[in-house]
Amino acid sequence: MSNFWLILSRLFAILHVVHYVNCTSESDNEETYNKYYSYAELTRRLWSFVEKYPHICSLESVGKSVEGRELWVIRVTAHPERNEPGKPRFRYVGNMHGDEAVSRQVLVYLTEYLVTHYGTDPRVTELVNSTDIYIMPSMNPDGFEKATEGDCTGSSAARENAKHVDLNRSFPDQFDQLPRVLESDAPEVTAVMKWILQKKFVLSGSLHGGSVVASYPFDDSSSHIVSGVYSQSPDDALFRYLAQTYAENHPIMKEGRPQCPYDPDEEFKDGITNGAAWYDVPGGMQDFSYLQGNCFEVTFELSCCKYPLASDLYTEWTNNGEALLTYMEKVHMGVKGYVMTSAGMGLPGANISVAGIDHNITTWIFGDYFRLLLPGTYNITASSSGYLPKTVNNVTVIEDKATLLNFILNNSSEEMQMPGSLTSPVPTTAFTPAGQSFDSQVASTPEPLVQPQDVHHHSYLDMELFLQQINTVHSSITHLYSIGQSAQGRELYVMEISTNAGIDQPGKPEIIFVGNLHSSDAVGKEMLLILVEYLCSNYGNEALVTRLVNSTRVHILPSMNPDGYEMVFKAQKYFGTNGDFSGGVRYSSNQNTDLNKNFPDLSYGEDFVQPETAAVMNWIKTHTFVLSASVLGGMIGVKYPNSADSLDEDVFKLIAEACFVKYPFLQLSQACDLPRPPDRNDINPSAPTGIDMQTWAYWNTGTLGFTIGLSCDLYPQAEDLLTYWKQYHVVLLQFIQQVHFSVRGRVTDVQSGQGIANATVVVEGSRHQVHTSKSGQYWRPLAPGAYELQAFAPGYSAVVVPLRVLETQVEQVDIGLTPELFTHSEGQLEDEEFQKLLEDLSSANALEQLVQSLLPAGTLRYRTYRERSDFLQELTLTFPHITRLYSLGHSWEFRTIWALEISGSLESPQPTEPKIRYVAGVHGNAAAGPELLLEFAFVLCINYGGNPTITKLVDRSRIVIVPCVNPDGRELAQEGKCFSTAGLTNAHGVDLDTDFLSGSLSVQPETHAMMDLIKGGGFSLSVNLEGGSLLVTYPYDRTTQPAQNEETLKYLAVVYADNRLGMHFGYPGCHSGPESVPGGILRGAEFSNHLGSMKDFSIDVSLCPEITVYTGCCLYPPAEQLLSLWVEHRTALFAMLLEIHKGLSGVVRDKEGQPVSDAVVSVNGSVLVHSDTQGYFHTLLPPGTHQLEIHAQGFQQQLRQVNVSSHQMASPLVIEFTENSTHFSQGVVLAATISIITILLFSLLIWHYRSAKFSRIRNGVGWLRHCQDNLQLDSIVSEKSPLRGVFLEESESEDDAFYLEQH
Ligand SMILES: [Zn+2]
Repeated sequence: MSNFWLILSRLFAILHVVHYVNCTSESDNEETYNKYYSYAELTRRLWSFVEKYPHICSLESVGKSVEGRELWVIRVTAHPERNEPGKPRFRYVGNMHGDEAVSRQVLVYLTEYLVTHYGTDPRVTELVNSTDIYIMPSMNPDGFEKATEGDCTGSSAARENAKHVDLNRSFPDQFDQLPRVLESDAPEVTAVMKWILQKKFVLSGSLHGGSVVASYPFDDSSSHIVSGVYSQSPDDALFRYLAQTYAENHPIMKEGRPQCPYDPDEEFKDGITNGAAWYDVPGGMQDFSYLQGNCFEVTFELSCCKYPLASDLYTEWTNNGEALLTYMEKVHMGVKGYVMTSAGMGLPGANISVAGIDHNITTWIFGDYFRLLLPGTYNITASSSGYLPKTVNNVTVIEDKATLLNFILNNSSEEMQMPGSLTSPVPTTAFTPAGQSFDSQVASTPEPLVQPQDVHHHSYLDMELFLQQINTVHSSITHLYSIGQSAQGRELYVMEISTNAGIDQPGKPEIIFVGNLHSSDAVGKEMLLILVEYLCSNYGNEALVTRLVNSTRVHILPSMNPDGYEMVFKAQKYFGTNGDFSGGVRYSSNQNTDLNKNFPDLSYGEDFVQPETAAVMNWIKTHTFVLSASVLGGMIGVKYPNSADSLDEDVFKLIAEACFVKYPFLQLSQACDLPRPPDRNDINPSAPTGIDMQTWAYWNTGTLGFTIGLSCDLYPQAEDLLTYWKQYHVVLLQFIQQVHFSVRGRVTDVQSGQGIANATVVVEGSRHQVHTSKSGQYWRPLAPGAYELQAFAPGYSAVVVPLRVLETQVEQVDIGLTPELFTHSEGQLEDEEFQKLLEDLSSANALEQLVQSLLPAGTLRYRTYRERSDFLQELTLTFPHITRLYSLGHSWEFRTIWALEISGSLESPQPTEPKIRYVAGVHGNAAAGPELLLEFAFVLCINYGGNPTITKLVDRSRIVIVPCVNPDGRELAQEGKCFSTAGLTNAHGVDLDTDFLSGSLSVQPETHAMMDLIKGGGFSLSVNLEGGSLLVTYPYDRTTQPAQNEETLKYLAVVYADNRLGMHFGYPGCHSGPESVPGGILRGAEFSNHLGSMKDFSIDVSLCPEITVYTGCCLYPPAEQLLSLWVEHRTALFAMLLEIHKGLSGVVRDKEGQPVSDAVVSVNGSVLVHSDTQGYFHTLLPPGTHQLEIHAQGFQQQLRQVNVSSHQMASPLVIEFTENSTHFSQGVVLAATISIITILLFSLLIWHYRSAKFSRIRNGVGWLRHCQDNLQLDSIVSEKSPLRGVFLEESESEDDAFYLEQH
C-alpha cells in the first residue's frame, strides 16, 4: 500500500510540474479590472494566489479589525516560508481610509503582476528573489464595507474604523507624547504597529486617495499649524528623492497639477510635497515608521476621486503600475551589510549612524542592516553597547545598487564580572555515571561576557518582541511557548533555554523561574528578561553559562501578571506617577486579587483561582520541575515554605545558603523598609484566602519552591536595573546550579529496560514525593546524610534502596522495578474495574455527583473565532499528552474548522476504544453550543490525572470535539439575539444543515470538511448542539420510513433528555415550535422536516447515530446565562460519554484467529455496523434481547442472541467463522484493489481541481486539453468521465461549474 501512495504522490507532483511548466500562460491573468472586491472576495482572491503560487506567496493576518475582519498581508518573495538574512523587507499598505478604495484594488493587481511575471520577466524575477515584499491591500476593511462606489469625496463613517477612529491620526507622535486612542478602539493600529516593529521594514509606501501627489515626512510640526510649515526630517533629501521616484513614473502625478475639483488650481512642484507643508497630520503612520520603525515611508495619493467607479480601475492600474514597481526597487539603494561579533555572531539592535545625518537605523535579528542613502561619500559608524564602536570613512554609494559594508565589533574593556565564588560547578557531562566523583574544578579563566543589551522596562509588546527575537536569533537553545492567557488575553510566555529545548533528555533536570506576580513588581520581570539574554548571548562563549545551558532545562516565565503590569507601566510612562496601585498587588482592571495569594489551600475550593494561577498550576503539575523560584522585589534574600519534616528543612536551607553564598547575611529574607502594603482585606474584603505559589508547589507537586528577593525597590528607575543585575545575578546562576546537586537516576522496568514514566520516588521520613519524567528520570535534592529511597509505580513491586549523600559527590541511583505477579491478567483486572465503574455511574444520581465533584474549568464566555482558536491551541499546549488539535478544512472565508481530539492513548489508538463526536455551531447563530463544548473539553482535561473516574473514561474513549462548524456565521451572530437569523448560514448564504447531500460534488467547504470526518468513520455516537428550543431529536430529519434502528436512536435521545434537568417533562415553552413534546424527544422530521441534514448523512453514510440537542429557547443567550446552561447540560454530556461504552461490541475472526474485516453485523434484521480492519465492531443498542446475524464474504452466516444492559459495559462477543467458502480468490482481491485505486484517482483529481477551482477554472479548460495530450490521461479521464463535463463546460460562474454536470 505504501508503494501505491508513493506512486500517487509522484503522479501528483508531475501534475503540478506540468501545470507550472506547460500550462502557465498569458491566461494566468484573471483580473478583469472592472470590479471592487468585497471583504470575502478579497480574502478568496488572496488565498487563490497562495494556492497557485505557493513557492513565492504566503498569506497571513497580522490582526483583526474592530468588527473582526482579518488584516490580510500577502507576502511575495522567493522562499516565503522563512526569514532570510540580508534580504530587505518592503511593504505597501492600502485602504487605510476605508473610503479611499483605489489602492485596495491596485495592490491586488500589483500582486497578480508580480506572481504572473515571476520566472519570465527578469525585472520582476530579480525583485521577487531579492526582496521580501509585504502587501496589505486593506488596513481598514470595516470602513470599506461602509463606503459607496462613485463617492469621490468620501464620508467619515467609511474613512474611519468601526469605532470612529481615523487610523492615520492614531499612531504615537513625536510632538505629542500621550497615547492618542485606546488600543481597543483602534486594534488595526495596534496590529500594524506591532507588525512594523517586528519586521523592521526598510522602505514602505502608504497608499491613499483624494489628490494626486507623493507626500513625505514629517507629517506634522511642533506648532501644529494647519498648513504651510515645512517640517524637515534629517533625511529630507533622500525622502524627496524617494517621493519623486514615484511621482515621475506616474503620468498625472509628475505634472504636479492634479486639478482635483475641490481645488482645481492646487500645484505641487514635481508632484511631491512635504507632509506638514501640505497640511498638518499628527499621529500619522509615516512618521511613526521613520522614527520608531526603522523604515522610510512615503504617502502616495493616487486619485482625486476617492472611490471612482469600477470602470476607472484599469486606468488607475496603468497610471500606478510602473511607479509602484520602481519605488519598490529603491529598497536596494545605499549601504547594507552585517554587524557581527569577532566570533561571527550577528548583533541584533546595533546602531548604524551616518556622519551628518541625525537619524540612526538599527540591525535586524540576524545583525543585518540596510541604510538607504543617496549617491555620494559617507563616514559610517556601527555601535552596540558592550562593544567598541567602529567607523569606516569614505564609503562610496552609487545609484541603484547597495554598497556592501560589514562591521566586526570587539568587546569593550568594561567586562561584566564573573561570579567569583562559585564553589561547586555543574557537571561537565550531561549524564554523570553512577558513583563518578563530581568535577570540583572551578573555571579558572572566565572568558569575556556579553553585556545585557536591552535593559529597560518592557511593556507587554516590548517583552513579546524581545522574546521572539531571542527565540529567532538563538533558536538552537531556546523554545518559546505560552502556558495560557491572562484575564485580558495576554500570553503567559515561557522561554525555555537549553540545548534541544522542549524535549525530555537524559540527565537534564528542569527548573523554573517566575516573575512579576504583582503588577508593580518590575524587578523580577526585568531580572528574568536579562537572565534570558545573558544565558543566550554567553552560551558558547563562557564556560559556566555554556555548562548550565548544556546540562539544565531552564524555563523562565518573566511575567505572570501582564495585565496588572501593563497598567502600572502606562501610569509610569505617561503620567510619571507611581504605578504602585494597592501596594503592588493590582491584578487586572477590575480586580485586586493578589496572585501570590491565589493558589488554593487544601482547605478551600478553587473557585477564586484566576486564569493566570490556573495556567501556572497546570504547567507545574504536568511537568517534573525539580526546583522553582519566584523572583521579586520588595525584599532581599530567600524564603521557602514551612516544611513538614526536618529532612526537607535541611534541603531548603542548603539551597538558600548556596544561592546567597556571596552574601551570607542575606540567606534568610530581610524585610525592606517599605510602606506596609494595605491589608488584603482592605483591598478586596470578599476575596477568599489562598496560599503563595511556592507553598502550593511544595505541598502539591514534586517541585521544591523558593522565593528570591533581589531588591527593595519594586519599580526602580530603568538605569538602576543594571545595578541590581550586576549585584545579584550570581544568585540566579547559583540557583540553576543547585539542581545538579540532587540525587538522581532512572526508574526502569527490569524486564524491558524501559524507563517508567510517572513512577513515585520518596525518601523515608519525608512526605515530599517526586515523580519520574517521561523517560523515567527523577531528581531529589537532599542534604548530605544517610537515607532510604523508595520507588514504586502501579503494576510494579516497590523497591527500597539505601543511600549516602556526600558533600563532594552527586549520587546517581538507578532503580529497576519488577512487574507484579499476575500482570498477564492486568488487562482483565482493568476491564473488571472499568465494568464496575460503569455500573456505579449508571446508578441513580451517581453521575450527577461525579460531575458536581469535578474541578470546574470556569472558562465560560463568548469567544470570537480567534479567541476560540487560541483557546484550543493553549489547551493542547497545556495538556499535550491527551489532546490533539487538527484542522478539518476551511470555511468559505477561510477560517479553520478545528477538531480537538481527547484521549488517554493518542499515539496508540486501541481497537476497542469507542469513539464519540461532539459537534456545535452548524448554525452560527446558535452560539451557546460552541462554548459548552469548550468548557466540556477543558473540564475533561483539567480533571484528567486528578479524578480517577475521568482519567479512566478518557483513557478508554476517543472524544472528538468540533466546537464550530460554521465559524463565518458565528462571527456575524449577535449576543442577546434570541431569535435572529444573522449568522444562521455560512458566508455563502447556505444553511449547512441542508447541505449534507451525499453524492453531491458542490457542497460548501464547511460541509465538505464535516463529511470527510464523518466518512472517516469509527464513531459510535455523535451529539450535535443546536439552539432555539429545548428538546432532543433523532434521525431522520427527512420524511421517510422510520430508521431501521429507531429503537436505538430513540433510546439515545432519551438518555440525553433524562439527564438534562427538566427536558424530559417535554414543555420547551419557546415562542415557536411544539408546545408539548412527550419525553422531550422527537424524530427530526417531526420537529423540522428538511433534506440534507448532518444527522441523516451520518447515519446513511457511516451508520453512526447522531442526536441533535436544542440547548435552550434563546439562540444566543446573554453571557451571564452560559454558566447555568452549562450546569443544566453537563451531566447529559457526560452521560453520552458513558453510553458509548455500552451496547454491543465484538471481534470477528476466521478459524486461524485472523481478524475478518468488513463483516456485516445485522441486528434484528437491519444492518448496523461493519467490522474494522482489526475485525472489531461496536454499535449502540437499547437495553434488551437482540438477534444478530453476522456475515462476511467467503464465510457462512452466523446467528447470535445477546442481552444488552443499560448499565453495563459492552462485553465483547467473539465471532469465529469456521467454514471458509472457496470462491474467494486472489483475483477478487486484485479486482477490488484496482477499482479502489480508480476511485481514489478520481477523488484525487476532483479534489485537486476543486481546490484550485477559484483561480484556475477558466485556464482549466485549456489546461486539460493541453495536458491530456502530454500525460495521456485518457485512460483516467475517459469520454464518460464526469470530469470531462466539468472542464469542457464553458461557464461564466465559477461556482456553478461543478454544479452543471450534476444538473
Ligand atoms: Zn487617506
